[in-house]
Amino acid sequence: MKSGVSIDDVLAEVALMVRPQFGKGRPADYIPQLAGIDPHKFGMAVCTFSGGEHVIGDADEAFSAQSITKLFALGLALNQIGDEVWTRVGKEPSGTPFNFLSQLEYEHGVPRNPFINAGALAITDILLDTVKAPELLVRDFIGMLSGSRLEIDEAVAQSEIDTAHKNRAIANLMRGAGTITHAVEAVIAAYCRQCAITLSCRQLARAALPLAADGFSPVAEETIFPSRLTRRLNALLLTCGTYDSVGSFAYRVGLPAKSGVGGGILAVVPGQATIAVWSPELDKFGSSVVGTAALEYFSQLTNCSVL
Ligand code: GLN
Repeated sequence: MKSGVSIDDVLAEVALMVRPQFGKGRPADYIPQLAGIDPHKFGMAVCTFSGGEHVIGDADEAFSAQSITKLFALGLALNQIGDEVWTRVGKEPSGTPFNFLSQLEYEHGVPRNPFINAGALAITDILLDTVKAPELLVRDFIGMLSGSRLEIDEAVAQSEIDTAHKNRAIANLMRGAGTITHAVEAVIAAYCRQCAITLSCRQLARAALPLAADGFSPVAEETIFPSRLTRRLNALLLTCGTYDSVGSFAYRVGLPAKSGVGGGILAVVPGQATIAVWSPELDKFGSSVVGTAALEYFSQLTNCSVL
C-alpha cells in the first residue's frame, strides 16, 4: 500500500465515492429471507498485518456470509486431507454462474473449482467424512479466527433449505457421478446452514488475516495454513473467487477476493491487510455492486493491487 496514506481518510473518501452506485443492483431475493435486508447498508473494515483495525459505516453489523464461508470450508478440507481435495474438485475458473448445472454434466460431475456451488457442496461432503455437522466446524473456525462467537441465522438457513432446488439438482448429479458420497439432503442441509453463518465486516477482515500474513492468525496467535497453502488459497481467490466476473473484477480491483450473495466481499492484500465490505445490492453475477466499487476505489487510492 502507498506509504503515508491514512487508511481512515481513504475509507471516508471511499464511502463518499460509492454513493452514486446505490440503486444499481438488487439484493438477492432467491433466498426469501435475504430479500428483506435494507439495500442501502454499507460497511467496510480493514485489518492490517501489524494489528491495525479501521472501519466505516455498518462495519459492525452482522450480515449473511453466504459464499464467503466456502473459503474457510476449503481451508479446513485442505488442512484435513491435503491435495486429495483436488481429486474431487478442479481449480479452474468456471466462466459460468455460481449455480450452473449443465457444465457439471459435460464435465462428468467434477466441479470446476471449490467456490462455485457444486465445488462447495463437494467440500461439504469431504468434511462430512469426519464430522456430523460441518457447518458448526466452519462456524467455529471462522469464529476462532475472528476472536468471537458466531451464529448461524436459522431463518436464513431454513429459507434456503426450503428453496434449494437447483443446489439439490447439482448435488444429485454429483451423487450419481460419485463426487458426493453422503446423502444429498445431509449435504444440502449442512451447506445451507454454513452459508447462513452471520458475521460483521470487522469479524470477517479479522478472520481472513492468515491469508495476508503467510498463514499466521494474529487473532488466534497460531499458524493456520502452511505458507504455500496460503499462497495457493489466494491464487484460487484471484482466479475463481468472483465466479463469471472474475476477469473484470481482477481488472477493476486487482486483489484476491471472495464474494457472497449476502452482499459481502472479502479481499486480501497479501503481506499487508484484509478488507471486508458489505452492501446488499448485487450485480448479475452475484457480487455486491457498491462493495466492488468500494474495493476498486480503495485499491486505486492506496495503490494496493497485486497486479
Ligand atoms: N447459499 C448461496 C447459494 O447456494 C450461496 C451463493 C453465493 O453466495 N454466491 O446459492
